[in-house]
Amino acid sequence: MSTIAERLEHVRQQIAAAERASGRPQGSVKLIAVSKFHPASAIREAYAAGQRDFGENYVQELVSKAAELRDLAELRFHLIGHLQSNKARQVVGDVSWVHTLDGASTARELNKRAQGIAKIISVLIQVNVANEAQKSGCQEEELPGLIQAIQACSHLRYRGLMVIPPLADDPETSRPYFARLRAMLPGLPPVQPDVESTEAPNSRELGELSMGMSHDLEVAIAEGATMVRVGTAIFGERPLTKHEGA
Ligand SMILES: *Cc1c(COP(=O)(O)O)cnc(C)c1O
Repeated sequence: MSTIAERLEHVRQQIAAAERASGRPQGSVKLIAVSKFHPASAIREAYAAGQRDFGENYVQELVSKAAELRDLAELRFHLIGHLQSNKARQVVGDVSWVHTLDGASTARELNKRAQGIAKIISVLIQVNVANEAQKSGCQEEELPGLIQAIQACSHLRYRGLMVIPPLADDPETSRPYFARLRAMLPGLPPVQPDVESTEAPNSRELGELSMGMSHDLEVAIAEGATMVRVGTAIFGERPLTKHEGA
């Protein structure tokens, strides 16, 4: 059994190799370590190994882990699960990025709460590329209107798109969804400046593409991912709960 630090290093090398393989600059893909259902101590271990960005699916879980980890000054939480409007107030203080915005009313509520604490939140729009009935995310044709709504929010920054392809074992199954998401960006309004724009200019100029998980991150990077959301490959199998798959 390897440690979190070892698995993290392995994933970093996998990302670096995938960047090279697709002729993309080193460091152009940001790793979001998905810590859902794993204890705060696991986040602490990954942080000690240099990881700074963590993804959580559930507001309650994110907020309680954030409270336990206040001493980790550079830790950033990304909400990668669906956000309900009525949870915006709860999560706003502890989240840096929301990957799953899919409606104008949630955007306005999140903005109101962010404004209340004088904080800027970076947001990605989740797109339901496969048109799955049970999945959240907006439709492609709704994107321009939703981007406009976000741009009208003083405390949100529209930064790009996110997709969760239909569940499949074969990573190649995800490829067309990743390619489709990437193809949407050039036709959309440009993204707004990053909150912390100290990062070197790269493919992010067009917008972030949050796509790829443990089993399909290489395909995602080949198709232009700028953020991969990796859980199992870093933290191991998740203990099953009634939430899984929700
Ligand atoms: C759980 C989850 C991940 C991480 O999945 P792994 O297969 O464990 O890497 C990534 N994105 C979202 C939206 C998730 O819910």
